[in-house]
Amino acid sequence: MQKKSDENTAASYNKNITESMVILMDTLKLANEIISGKRIDKKDNYLSEFIDTDLDKLKKGADMIRAALVGEKVDLCTIINGRSGKCGENCKFCAQSAHYHTSCEVYDLLDEDTIVEQAKANESEGVDRFAIVCSGHHPSESDFEKIIHAFERMNKECKIELCTSLGFLTSEQFKRLKKAGVTGIHNNIETSRRFFPQICTTHTFDDKIANIKRAQAEGLCVCSGGIIGMGETWEDRIDMALTLSELGITSIPINSLMPIPGTPLYGNKRLTEEDIIRTIAIFRYINPTADIRLAGGRALMRNDGEDTFTSGASASITGNMLTTSGSTIKSDKEMLTRLGRDITPVWI
Ligand code: SF4
Repeated sequence: MQKKSDENTAASYNKNITESMVILMDTLKLANEIISGKRIDKKDNYLSEFIDTDLDKLKKGADMIRAALVGEKVDLCTIINGRSGKCGENCKFCAQSAHYHTSCEVYDLLDEDTIVEQAKANESEGVDRFAIVCSGHHPSESDFEKIIHAFERMNKECKIELCTSLGFLTSEQFKRLKKAGVTGIHNNIETSRRFFPQICTTHTFDDKIANIKRAQAEGLCVCSGGIIGMGETWEDRIDMALTLSELGITSIPINSLMPIPGTPLYGNKRLTEEDIIRTIAIFRYINPTADIRLAGGRALMRNDGEDTFTSGASASITGNMLTTSGSTIKSDKEMLTRLGRDITPVWI
């Protein structure tokens, strides 16, 4: 059994376990029940056992669920940072917040040709989807119109699936994005409802939920996950996974915090690979049919996070411009092929 070293490993959970009847979780049996249709919810009284249960068995069960309910296909997405920095929000993990002094690049919305060229380059490398990501609470009206135009053009000229992350939008704006060819909206809930106010105070957890529901109501798929390693407890991580399940989220990016100089979380202890893998496996049990997407923080793991793909992960953000991990679209595809996974683009 691998014990957690993280101080945040939920003392409260251990207390609950010793104070109540200890239920010895049989993760493989649970995995088979999930494959047969069981779904975990907040009422299940064994959730705390995910924290200390044998990691190898947990991984095996998560991989069984992934193989049975998602299959061998690994969904690969790339992003372009369409507008960088100068954000008025105060998310404590983010280099782009104007509240902190970081060395992040600052620029206004990129021109359409640059964005479209990037989409085409990623398509030619066999990536499934491409997203325009912009800093800020929401885009200005003129930026929104430029983004719509860029999507209309990509929709005509490319086959790659189109996604975007533009912050808080109205129903009408979501409708227009869909009409322009966008199929997926990215909007992370970041963490649990309990912990969210310690991470951001310029918008609320409920603002996020309402935004996600507006996008879903317009028929858009929502990609929403968060960041681990911000000081949250294991209980918070499990709670985040449960919230995403309740929202019916179909793509869940898991970022591991890479503390950025200048941000309030810079001093945070780095996560261990074991904690990242355990988190991904837990998310697979709680969200069995969703894509669990490996995102930021791959440099914290060996071989760019290879083990996560046998521990429940079924998707990844990839790209030749990804920060510190050194992975590229080519190296990710080689790694996934070696693991016997299917990397045929969805749009073929
Ligand atoms: S809203 Fe987005 S860009 Fe702005 S600080 Fe938060 S995460 Fe960063």
